[in-house]
Amino acid sequence: MKAIVKSKAEEGLWLEDVPEPEIGINDVLIKILKTGICGTDVHIYNWDAWAQQTIKVPTVLGHELVGEIVEVGENVNDFYVGDIVSVEGHLVCGRCRNCLAGRRYKCANTLGVGVQTDGGFAEYISVPMTNIWKHSDDINLEVAAIFDPFGNAVHTALAFEVFGEDVLITGAGPIGIMAAAVARHAGARHVVITDVNPKRLELAQKMDVTLAVDVRETSLSEVQKQLGMKEGFDVGMEMSGNPSAMRDMIANMAHGGNIAFLGIPTEEFAVNWKTVVFNMLTVTGIYGRKMYETWYQMSVLLESGINIEPVITHRFSYKDFAKGFEVMREGNSGKVILDWSEI
Ligand code: NAD
Ligand code: ZN
Repeated sequence: MKAIVKSKAEEGLWLEDVPEPEIGINDVLIKILKTGICGTDVHIYNWDAWAQQTIKVPTVLGHELVGEIVEVGENVNDFYVGDIVSVEGHLVCGRCRNCLAGRRYKCANTLGVGVQTDGGFAEYISVPMTNIWKHSDDINLEVAAIFDPFGNAVHTALAFEVFGEDVLITGAGPIGIMAAAVARHAGARHVVITDVNPKRLELAQKMDVTLAVDVRETSLSEVQKQLGMKEGFDVGMEMSGNPSAMRDMIANMAHGGNIAFLGIPTEEFAVNWKTVVFNMLTVTGIYGRKMYETWYQMSVLLESGINIEPVITHRFSYKDFAKGFEVMREGNSGKVILDWSEI
């Protein structure tokens, strides 16, 4: 079958013929319909320090996907050929304390689909039945393809109560923009999103945010004044991984405010912990999605009218994956979708 493979320990990705995956008794075989390109895939393409430490070549990339089940293992009772499904990309051990207690998303031994195992930038992928989310029959396939990052957004945006609250989101990448839509849908008063890239802020405007702010031009204290806010933001969602964004957020939170931290910093950095203490802030790290509460929430958010389609800005055939990666590497796009329906 065709697959996009990290087959050499150098910059780039290659479209190759590889053997079709085999399924075990607990697995399902999925024919891929559409995939999304994630920032992680770009790190692997670029072969940066993280990728060099993490990826063994050859590995088939891809974890943002939707497809159709074409075969199920003999132990699989709840999924059927023809089901339209996405994949939870965290493979958990099932044996650690958190897994045994039902907190699978907190597994200490998580492996990533398309990172530590072969992924879904391919005609077929085999995954355990424990890692499948079945969509409703009328799901928009492009939206279904980005349930993985949409899940990051939902997990972060609903980590703390946002109803009636003033929300600050730092980083208007695809995940920040989707989180803004979720916070708005969940009844936040003000949703302020920041970035340093005007193209990203333009895209964020499409999501009914209160303000999309270029922090190089306008400070968060000015934003607060403009909105008539007196005590700071109630909920912060850090979605840039940038140290100055986190420092600014901490400095602009209300006393007792809550910060959900999803952005992945490239290096250690200092923050003013004294402010965290005296202002009694709660900071929580967010990784992945809750299994499977976040997936349930995504499906019902869509059924209750949330629209994340504007975050999808580019569509290519898998054959033109290089163009998709080029667009991602420029850093101005929203989500980029690869279509696998015509092999
Ligand atoms: P992205 O890189 O597309 O978006 C990040 C945005 O932050 C960019 O638009 C960038 O211009 C902006 N930015 C940079 N400096 C800033 C500053 N000082 N203030 C405000 N914005 C600033 O990333 P994404 O795909 O939307 O993901 C968001 C973050 O979440 C990334 O750091 C990513 O690595 C991380 N991530 C975490 C998880 C998890 O499970 N924790 C999962 C996926 C992605
Ligand atoms: Zn575990």
